[in-house]
Amino acid sequence: MYETVIGLEVHAQLKTKTKMFCSTRNDPEESRPNINICPVCLGHPGTLPTINKKAVEYVVKVGHALSSKIAKHTKFDRKNYFYPDIPKGYQISQYDLPICEGGHLEVLGKKINITRVHLEEDTAKSIHGASGYSFVDFNRASAPLMELVTEPEMTSGDEAKSFCEELQRIFQYLGVSDANMEKGQMRCEVNISLKKKNNKEFGTKVEIKNLNSFRAVRDAAEFEEKRQEALLEKGEKVIQETRGWDENRKITYSQRLKESAHDYRYFPEPDLPQMELGEREGIPTKDIIDVESLKASLPELPKQKLGRFKTVFGILEKDADILITNKETTFYFENVVSELKGLLKEKKEDIYTEKTKAIIKLAINYINTDLKKILRETNKKISDMKMSEEDLAELMLLIFEKKITSAAAKTVLAQMVETGADPDHIIEEKGLLQLNDAEEISKIVKEVIDKNPKPVLDYKNGNLNSVQFLLGQVMAKTKGKANPAVTKEVLEKLLL
Ligand code: ADP
Ligand code: MG
Repeated sequence: MYETVIGLEVHAQLKTKTKMFCSTRNDPEESRPNINICPVCLGHPGTLPTINKKAVEYVVKVGHALSSKIAKHTKFDRKNYFYPDIPKGYQISQYDLPICEGGHLEVLGKKINITRVHLEEDTAKSIHGASGYSFVDFNRASAPLMELVTEPEMTSGDEAKSFCEELQRIFQYLGVSDANMEKGQMRCEVNISLKKKNNKEFGTKVEIKNLNSFRAVRDAAEFEEKRQEALLEKGEKVIQETRGWDENRKITYSQRLKESAHDYRYFPEPDLPQMELGEREGIPTKDIIDVESLKASLPELPKQKLGRFKTVFGILEKDADILITNKETTFYFENVVSELKGLLKEKKEDIYTEKTKAIIKLAINYINTDLKKILRETNKKISDMKMSEEDLAELMLLIFEKKITSAAAKTVLAQMVETGADPDHIIEEKGLLQLNDAEEISKIVKEVIDKNPKPVLDYKNGNLNSVQFLLGQVMAKTKGKANPAVTKEVLEKLLL
């Protein structure tokens, strides 16, 4: 009966060396409070800001990646409000002339339009101590912050979550932000309202803050859907307000009533020049924001990679999808592929063959399943593991050429991740070379048959599943080394 309407506001900390308007270090990892500060970012009287060119370029790149219109003329504005975490009593932001306008991003097969992307400065961090005192850490004050606003076009928590995930990948691929939500490098605010189906007019929206994971974005939207529906059903009104998300209780709670733009008394920042983007006569080269070159410099983006993986490697959509979920895995995989091609070339093999494709598919399976499992169980990330891309490529080749069984490969893989040793070494040390010799396998099969009269009888009575049990026994006896296909054949012959 009701339709959900969601628009997002996403902030991302830009990965520049220095802050937005001064040359103080921009280091979100700094744990000592009030180390990266100077009179400019502390807003001391008599100081003047200067614009960080890199930050402007990063926003232009994001704009290009989202097919936004890049402003020719843009400026900064003062957003006035008082809070202990803004030392100047105002935040330098952008009001009516953002760097980027329009653009779109496709999520779950649907095009979501972008309203704008602009640049501003971050606030300091307030820390409310258990002692009853509060502290302010100004390391983050005036760090470059990008804000992206979407049109109210999403219709579910899942869509909002996917949008944020895709946006994170784009920021990471562009190298403009690490965009880690848990670390607050990317912050998503969900604006959400309900309206009657077929009703054109939007309902009153609520803005949800403090969402520090993608899951929280979805959960908060879904909670709010239910809360608003219950209100409307009772004939009550939704109040326009800002609500927080309580991760433990999985509920939103009222924080404050919504301010409007006029409360902030925006006006053009008088201490900064307005900006003309792109080539301009009379502007010194060092001051030019080269909009066209920035477009040409864009790396391959997640969607394009996905497409290429599907066409070039013949990967299924769902496998390719997992592979691009995080940048680390994607780039690791690509290195494995190039190492594999290197290995095949060394062996004087043609690399444009079905064999190469098949080994690449094998690599995808191992990366998406076995490796993922090992990393999860050992609480590691790709960057923590010692295994090189070359060694993983070598392991795939060994599996493909049936030098080891897939059971043995799991053991070898775990060892490689842990120690960084090469696969040959581990296989030799653990004696894991695959047993392919039918005669040798026959000997073991005979022993297994002698020792297991009951399953043998079951099989003869028509219970074909018993073969699996006997096969398992052979595997156990050979520590997973016996070639499963050969073993099965031998077993079935000897059981006749
Ligand atoms: P405000 O002036 O309150 O900040 P904006 O018009 O700037 O509102 O929109 C802020 C965000 O809220 C945008 O992402 C927009 O898409 C979204 N939004 C606006 N109206 C609604 C609505 N009725 N329901 C859900 N989201 C909305
Ligand atoms: Mg707003």
